[in-house]
Amino acid sequence: MIKKILLRILLVIVAIIVIGLLIPQNLKMPVVGADSNSYNHNAFWHGGWGSSVVHKGVDIFAKKGTSINSSTVGIVLTTGEGGKSGKFVLVLGPKWRLHYYAHLDEIKTKRFAFVTQDREIGTVGNTGNAATTPAHLHYSIVTLIPYPWRIDDSSHGIRKMFYLNPIDYLTK
Ligand SMILES: [Zn+2]
Repeated sequence: MIKKILLRILLVIVAIIVIGLLIPQNLKMPVVGADSNSYNHNAFWHGGWGSSVVHKGVDIFAKKGTSINSSTVGIVLTTGEGGKSGKFVLVLGPKWRLHYYAHLDEIKTKRFAFVTQDREIGTVGNTGNAATTPAHLHYSIVTLIPYPWRIDDSSHGIRKMFYLNPIDYLTK
């Protein structure tokens, strides 16, 4: 009996994971009006990044106050303020990937909101440790399902099983 229930729970979990993997990502540039000139194409895993050691995302530059839309469909897991991030939004998107938006000037969504690619979630700013740099969106993609084959011998290279390069998706 218990075995049957456990099996059923396991099947439901597997089904949820598979459904998440099947949702297409269709990633869209999150900063409205930005293009491939708005970011440094070598920004991902750039070294000398202070206490973060390497840069685990991309910085997309735009005028302060420019709208940021979610790059994928998803659910806002949390929003917050403080530390290196400044104002940030964390979205769970397709394929069990987290999309992290930081240094926002304003947060324009809330926890557990359902978002699509046309939904504004915030505006570009320079909050957190970006206070002395021009306004930009720090954008990272983190997979919850590890990709160990992506590990390399760069600094913090083991973390590449979780941190994906957003530029790979932005340039598609
Ligand atoms: Zn950054």
